[in-house]
Amino acid sequence: MSELLKGKPVADAILARTREGAAAFYKKKGRSPKAAIIRVGARPDDLAYERGIKNRAAQTDVEIDVEELAEDVSREELLRTIKRRNEDAATDGILLFLPLPDHLDEQEAVNAISPQKDLDGVSDASKLGVYTDSGIGNPPCTAQAVMEILAYYKVPLSGKKAVVIGRSQVVGKPLAMLLLKQNATVTICHSKTHDLSQETRQADILISAAGRIGMVTGTDVRDGQTVIDVGINFDSAGKMKGDVLYEEVADKVDCLTPVPGGVGSVTTAVLLSHLLH
Ligand code: NDP
Repeated sequence: MSELLKGKPVADAILARTREGAAAFYKKKGRSPKAAIIRVGARPDDLAYERGIKNRAAQTDVEIDVEELAEDVSREELLRTIKRRNEDAATDGILLFLPLPDHLDEQEAVNAISPQKDLDGVSDASKLGVYTDSGIGNPPCTAQAVMEILAYYKVPLSGKKAVVIGRSQVVGKPLAMLLLKQNATVTICHSKTHDLSQETRQADILISAAGRIGMVTGTDVRDGQTVIDVGINFDSAGKMKGDVLYEEVADKVDCLTPVPGGVGSVTTAVLLSHLLH
């Protein structure tokens, strides 16, 4: 049976680091670091995420300020709100909940966020920071959560072969860059990849971010591998499942992240840690 790489101890370590950072920040500035959440409407998903962030923030002495905008907010008002928070010296980070309602231009809105305050690494400037390694902005939280898990469990990366399934802007591509920065040899797979199994079996570290139940089965893996399951999917009974067929893969590989309780449980801690960047 493989070692289970649980997210909780990783999140706890990041939160402890953030708490220390927040205390040092308070000492220097006489106030706690503050994140502004900009929420358009009140989607149940967003409200649940907001509650999760507030709970974590309470453990780290970080302040959360929610800007609640109407579901039919105008483009101008949304951009004005972002600009006001960019210019507010007492706001250290901004998180815009996505997706936005259809009448709003998501790309325009995320690019209006100052890269210095872009907590979730969604702006083009943050992406540039990841690709150029210039320190501008932040990497997307999920991609960084994977890196935090690998670092916490001391999975060697330098010179190792990492295979990433998925090439989205928020997970696959930035993650490939972060792995490259740690001197892994990286292969990015996607829906047009021929013989995915052949690619995945060559990996020392296999990361699946495809968003498909059963993407990684027992025949796609071998012993000696570390498998990180980023996928969050729901089966027909409404049960949360990753991309990896746990029951087939767990017996074969060395280490595996669970779903739930893996990558997803680390992302909010990463988000708060970005506030101190
Ligand atoms: P996207 O749908 O944007 O990207 C999925 C990627 O997987 C695409 O690049 C796609 O390839 C690739 N893919 C899909 N099917 C296959 C296939 N059969 N073979 C090979 N590649 C395939 O998803 P996201 O990147 O936004 O998210 C990925 C998963 O991660 C989702 O389950 C999402 O819920 C989860 N997620 C989890 C988070 C967490 O905190 N744990 C946070 C964010 C996301 P192509 O480009 O060719 O279409």
